[in-house]
Amino acid sequence: MERPVVVRGCPAYDVIVAGGGPAGCTAATLLAMYGHRVLLLEKARHPRFHIGESMLPYAEPVIRRLGLDWGEGNVFKAGAVFIDEVSDQAMFFQLSGVHRAYQVERSRFDRQLWDNAARHGVDCRDRCPVEAVRFADERVTVATPDGLFDGRYFIDATGRAALLGRRDRCIERIRHLGRFALYTHYASVAGALADELYAQGNIWILMVDLGWMWVIPLAGGKVSVGLVSKYNRPAGTDTADLFRRYVTASPRLRRLLAGARQLLPIQAEANFSYLNHRRDGPRYVSIGDAAGFLDPVFSSGVFLALTGAARVADRIHLGLENGTEGDPELHRPDDRDYALGFNTMYAFVERFYQSDLIHNVFFEAHRDVRIKRAISELLAGNLWQGDNPWQDTLLQGRFALTKP
Ligand SMILES: Cc1cc2nc3c(=O)[nH]c(=O)nc-3n(C[C@H](O)[C@H](O)[C@H](O)COP(=O)(O)OP(=O)(O)OC[C@H]3O[C@@H](n4cnc5c(N)ncnc54)[C@H](O)[C@@H]3O)c2cc1C
Repeated sequence: MERPVVVRGCPAYDVIVAGGGPAGCTAATLLAMYGHRVLLLEKARHPRFHIGESMLPYAEPVIRRLGLDWGEGNVFKAGAVFIDEVSDQAMFFQLSGVHRAYQVERSRFDRQLWDNAARHGVDCRDRCPVEAVRFADERVTVATPDGLFDGRYFIDATGRAALLGRRDRCIERIRHLGRFALYTHYASVAGALADELYAQGNIWILMVDLGWMWVIPLAGGKVSVGLVSKYNRPAGTDTADLFRRYVTASPRLRRLLAGARQLLPIQAEANFSYLNHRRDGPRYVSIGDAAGFLDPVFSSGVFLALTGAARVADRIHLGLENGTEGDPELHRPDDRDYALGFNTMYAFVERFYQSDLIHNVFFEAHRDVRIKRAISELLAGNLWQGDNPWQDTLLQGRFALTKP
């Protein structure tokens, strides 16, 4: 690989982005579209496995700005169905309407975003982890195994690794949501129930005593299945065994997966919800999971990553144009929007775990079409319109994690 040239007095790049996931690729591409010189550094090599496959419709405008068609090769997602097999209750929320959403296989989706960034002129370098970041002399210097890179601005899009947030010890864990997740993919899923799953393209959320399970149809007859527990994992538990027990206990999953082939060993993630309390500062901003992450029950992760990345790209563009990119308050107006989005989703997820939202509200939503519509809008990601009564109800009297 060619060595980076560090030119004193004039940084080689306008913006250096660490992390080539959805957030990093989006910010990098939009900034390159504005005409800035952008370096995108990724630790891994695409295509790489990543969890987080169910998208929200209100992310679609960002995908369009990137010049991509996310309908291509992905499963159309009509909405979400919440199911309790024990009480035999189910409720469908239609999410796609003004905008469309898809179920995506992340290895393919993230690779598309990465290639798209390169096509738009971003200098994309994989297998190049950012090891350290230094801010001095109106420039940012980033250290990697391939050498030092200089830029005018730094974006931390390193996902749950949250490079700056962890370095600066400003990550606060949110403890009272899901505690751990187990998941895998299956292939060769067939039969009447599989046909129904694919025809509708919904995500199924199955309520179980431990927490909940997801079922997501992916292209090519694959299905993603996950189990999220609201309790800590008892020491010595065999996770594969625990996962299999929950799959076998569900009549629906038994039917769906009869004859299917498990593609991956059971994967595990724990303690995933947190907030980064210092998301921006002079010459840097953290986006996507590096800014904060919420339990995935309402599939908000990639949506918040894409919309947040677009917002900061627009603001950094203005900063670079006006020479104000070093202003520590650069992102102040936008962070209010981030906080509103994050707090709304947090209030939703918190009620899911603390107030049995699904049985008390979702399964009763057929009684009032306005409530059902208001919930559907929020679940679709329509968070910044300011006219959703259910959003006001959710936020009222709730402890806001981050100040709006
Ligand atoms: C169990 C579970 C289920 C989920 N389900 C959903 C879902 O259904 N729908 C949804 O929308 N979201 C879901 N999510 C969330 C989703 O995975 C994330 O919100 C999303 O991937 C965030 O995108 P990102 O770009 O911020 O981070 P990532 O996608 O994690 O990308 C970060 C990138 O940074 C790279 N990196 C890390 N450190 C460095 C470094 N030092 N230098 C350079 N590169 C680095 C990583 O290799 C990675 O490629 C789920 C999450 C979990 C844990």
